[in-house]
Amino acid sequence: MSSLTELSASEIARRVSAREVSAEEVARAHLDRIAAIDGALGAFLHVAGERALTMARRVDAGLAARASPPPLAGVPVAIKDVLDIEGLPTTCGSRILDGYRPPFTATAVSRLEAAGAVVLGKTNMDEFAMGSSTENSAFRPTRNPWARDRVPGGSSGGSAAAVAAGMAPAALGSDTGGSIRQPAALCGVVGLKPTYGRVSRYGLVAFASSLDQVGPLARTVEDVARVAAALCGWDPRDATSAKSEPTDFAAGLEAGAASPGLRVGVPWRFLAGGVDEGVMTAFGRALEDLRAAGAELVDVDLPHLPYAIATYYIVATAEASSNLARYDGVRYGLRAGAGDLRRMYGETRDRGFGLEVKRRIVLGTFVLSSGYYDAYYLRAQKVRTLIRRDFERAFAACDVIATPTSPVPAFRFGEKTADPLQMYLADIFTVPANLAGIPGLSLPCGFTQGLPVGLQLVGRPFDEATLLRAGHAYQTVTSHHRARPPL
Ligand code: GLN
Repeated sequence: MSSLTELSASEIARRVSAREVSAEEVARAHLDRIAAIDGALGAFLHVAGERALTMARRVDAGLAARASPPPLAGVPVAIKDVLDIEGLPTTCGSRILDGYRPPFTATAVSRLEAAGAVVLGKTNMDEFAMGSSTENSAFRPTRNPWARDRVPGGSSGGSAAAVAAGMAPAALGSDTGGSIRQPAALCGVVGLKPTYGRVSRYGLVAFASSLDQVGPLARTVEDVARVAAALCGWDPRDATSAKSEPTDFAAGLEAGAASPGLRVGVPWRFLAGGVDEGVMTAFGRALEDLRAAGAELVDVDLPHLPYAIATYYIVATAEASSNLARYDGVRYGLRAGAGDLRRMYGETRDRGFGLEVKRRIVLGTFVLSSGYYDAYYLRAQKVRTLIRRDFERAFAACDVIATPTSPVPAFRFGEKTADPLQMYLADIFTVPANLAGIPGLSLPCGFTQGLPVGLQLVGRPFDEATLLRAGHAYQTVTSHHRARPPL
């Protein structure tokens, strides 16, 4: 990496603010790196080079003119292609949005830009964020920077690979059932899914509206905290966004540099069986490191978590089948089979959607259909409540709950595509936080067979601060996050 692309987001903001380096130079260095290496990785679907340089120059001009620099001054960011940016294409990894350029910008993106960040481009993803490997992208696979014959995870695989490979110090992803945390784990970076409602979903293409959340990926917890601070906040344009106080997560980190008294719950019973041995070894060591940093480990029970996958794949597909009804070829995107209206709907959707999206729409329509609604959808909602209560009960005895982020490290292309159920089962540790609406953080905790392993910490609603403090404390006593892929 050239030296500017090795810097953390925090360090870039510091140097750009001090005018030791210009935002334009930083943007150029990252665009050069993308040009040099992304052909082999496929992290980006669209690189917005000219726009990035214009925005960077604007940041530099602002710094020359004003007294206090913005918190993300000159920090390049990569944006998952599920978030709209006015004038740039949004594909969501799908053919059905062919030619679509939104006339507005997602609040999450405009908040970052208002904080001085510079958008580099849009990153690859599983179509409509459905998947755990980025293999469902309609355009190209993204390769894992640590092992190019393996997936980067998904659905925010492009964002995770971009950050891991030094093409951007930070990125945005979306997480409906693990899509920020799991690719972060498989690519050896940090990812945060905030509490449901913390970050505005305005301008985020909807997958499952009661689960979707936008969040940051970066190489350190400190950087994730810094981006999260800019991201979080109430937005009148998203009715589900919460009126939470703005929090300076990064400033709160030092207070927790050691974590005396932090109670880390471990759901041992839930972890028994099905977890890769190398992942379990790295996880066990991470718990020891947390203990050495002053944390207390407690055993917690989450009895309904074995039902989380079934519950998630009912709720998420039901909501998706309804959200995706809007892609009909009438107002935007692809239009096929013109002439007869019904034929146009049918042909547009048949040609525009990939296999996994069709599978979800069929499944979701089935669980919502009369006669099956009570047996599947309604029952899933009840189990969802039980899962939320499991967490409430557990958090009486601990402050955060630790699990591996993914039961397996990065798998090979094609390994799980033939059997969708195998792909779904790998989401076992991430979907519970979405069902309960609580925040989850994934951070690197070692390697198995040369592949990164992720530690997941989940916390109480709106208590991202504790998660980030615990994660930062872990990173001050370990160095897994400093390892870089051989590129
Ligand atoms: N892998 C999960 C799914 O396929 C989660 C996806 C996500 O979080 N967007 O639905």
